[in-house]
Amino acid sequence: METRWLYTTSENFAALREASKKTCIIPMGCIEKHGLHMPVGTDIIKGSKVAYMASQIETAAVFPDFTFGDVPAGAHAKRPDGTICLDVTLQMTLLETLCNEIAANGFEKILVVNSHGGNTRWLDTFARNLGVRPHNFVFGHVKVPLPAPHMMAEILEKNGRGSIPEINEEDEELLIKYHSEGMTGGHACMGEAALVMGFAPESVHLDRLGIESGLRQSVPELDKLQSAGVNIASGGWGSYFPNWFSGHDPVGCNERIGQAALRISAEFVAKAIKAFKEDEYMMAAMKAKQLL
Ligand SMILES: [Zn+2]
Repeated sequence: METRWLYTTSENFAALREASKKTCIIPMGCIEKHGLHMPVGTDIIKGSKVAYMASQIETAAVFPDFTFGDVPAGAHAKRPDGTICLDVTLQMTLLETLCNEIAANGFEKILVVNSHGGNTRWLDTFARNLGVRPHNFVFGHVKVPLPAPHMMAEILEKNGRGSIPEINEEDEELLIKYHSEGMTGGHACMGEAALVMGFAPESVHLDRLGIESGLRQSVPELDKLQSAGVNIASGGWGSYFPNWFSGHDPVGCNERIGQAALRISAEFVAKAIKAFKEDEYMMAAMKAKQLL
């Protein structure tokens, strides 16, 4: 059925509420540089796609994209490059307001499908802070996984060659090679490149690889602070990875690997939606005003 909030008629909302067991998901990302080879909207582009695909496996209403996210102000130094930095307090207020509006439309469970690592911390703070004001929904968040190359190589190891139908033997070799070599990733890496290439290959420019490095840069001053137990913003991520690219070059990534990665990622998120829909504990705890 049509699960997208924006594409549903007012008359059909009751059916969507019922089919989704009053569960609504919000794709969330951010807008920031992703190396030279990936678009600045990578996180919300892939988050939105995976959330929609997941909703077609396990029915949930899909709220319009929460496009923004926590991008550290340090990114200002790199602009103009398309990066957008918004105050997180503003985003927390906006998210709570949107959740209340979703609840006003009869949904009781709200799950953020988060596609940007930098959002995890504030989403947890947001969830912990919800109890300070009365609200009538339960809230959770799930991270969009990046199946390529490690998760996919593990599937091949476990289930055998040919167990990922979208890819060919050459792709299998590539994934297994990167997995055995311990390919690093995290930002604009093979995992992210695959998810975007799965449906928007024209937005990924692998010919721009090799110009800026995705490998961890040496910053002994920050190492010293952190080894003394001093916590700094994002563990100094922006200094260690100044090119907004973290990982080995995703050479050889392609649309087939991307389509498989999208399916595997969507299946993971669908399982999270199912568990969240079936859960009764959180709602009971909220109604009893117990701390979660
Ligand atoms: Zn990203």
